[in-house]
Amino acid sequence: MLALEFLEPGQMRVTEMPEPEIGPRDLLVRVHTSGICGTDLHIFRGSYPATFPLVPGHEYSGIVEGVGPELEGFVVGDAVVVDPNILCGACFYCRSGNVHLCSNMVALGVNLPGGFAELSRVPARQAYRLPKGLPLDQAALSEPVACCLRGMDLAEVRSGDRVAIFGAGPIGVIMLQLAQMQGASTVIMIDPQAGRRRLAEAHGADWVIDPLEEAVESAVRRQFPEGVEVVFDCSGNIEAVKETLKLVMRGGKVILYGVCEEGASFELNPFWVNENEITIRGAYNNPNTMGRAVDLLASGKLTAGSVVTHHFPLQEAPEAFRITGSSETLKVVIDPNE
Ligand SMILES: [Zn+2]
Ligand SMILES: [Zn+2]
Repeated sequence: MLALEFLEPGQMRVTEMPEPEIGPRDLLVRVHTSGICGTDLHIFRGSYPATFPLVPGHEYSGIVEGVGPELEGFVVGDAVVVDPNILCGACFYCRSGNVHLCSNMVALGVNLPGGFAELSRVPARQAYRLPKGLPLDQAALSEPVACCLRGMDLAEVRSGDRVAIFGAGPIGVIMLQLAQMQGASTVIMIDPQAGRRRLAEAHGADWVIDPLEEAVESAVRRQFPEGVEVVFDCSGNIEAVKETLKLVMRGGKVILYGVCEEGASFELNPFWVNENEITIRGAYNNPNTMGRAVDLLASGKLTAGSVVTHHFPLQEAPEAFRITGSSETLKVVIDPNE
C-alpha cells in the first residue's frame, strides 16, 4: 500500500509499504479522509515528541475492510472515525478518571502508524461507528472537534459571556462556533491573516481584529473596559499567548489550547494572577468527548466541513503539508484512496 512516511524530523516521502496486519481485536480500515493538523507540522519539524520513522495522521475516517476474530459489533463495510489516543487503562491517571493524562499514552499517527496511508490498523476500541447521514469527509473532523469540546468544557462559557479567540485557523473557527452555541454575546477573533479573518467572519465572528494593524488590548478595552470573561489561545504562537493575559477580565479564564513550541515560555506576575483571580488552564486532547463530537457533526449544527479548504491525494501529501498554515488554507485534508 501507499503511505506517507516521516523518516526523521524534516524528512518525508510517499512510499510503498506492506499492508498492516491486524490482531484479534483490531480493525483494518481503508482510510477515506485524513486531516493535517498543526501537531503534524510540529512532529515534522521535530518540535513535538513522536516516534520515528512514522506514518503520521491522527484525524481520520474510513471504511472497515477487516475485522479481528475476537471482535463483535463491527462488520466489513462499517463507516468509522478513529480516536487516535490509546490509553493504558491501568495507570494512576487512567484509574482516577484523567484518561487523557495517561502515563503510558500512545497515539496513532504519533507513535504508531496513522491515517496518511491507504490502510490503517485500528484497535477496535478506538473506532466510532458513524451515525447515518454523517459523510466520511466530515467525520474526519471528529478528533479536532472533540479536542475543542474539551477546551470549551473547561472554559465554562455562559450565555452572555464575551469570548476572545487568538488564531482563526480550523481550530479557532470550530471554537468560535462552539462559543456561539454556548450563547456567547460577542466572539472576537484575532488573526494576522486576512483570509482567515474573512473565514472567521463568514462563520459568524462578531468582531475580527488584525493584530498587525491594531493594538489588540486597547481595541478590546475600548469596547469592553473590564476585558472579556474567556480568552482562548488557538494559535500556538507565544506572542499571542502573552496577549491573552491582557484581554482577560478580573475573575476570568485563559484557556491555552494551541500547541506552542516545546521550549517557549512567557513571564507571569503571580501578584497579578492572585489579585485578579485569573485562571490559566491548559486544555489537552479529547477525554471522553469523541462521541459528542460525532453526534454534533451528525446533527449538522456544527458546520466543521466548511473549515476544509483543500483536498489532496496521498501522492501529493508533501505539497499538502507545504501549503498547510498558509494564508489561503484553513483545514487541508488528504484522501489516501482517491
Ligand atoms: Zn490534531
Ligand atoms: Zn494510563
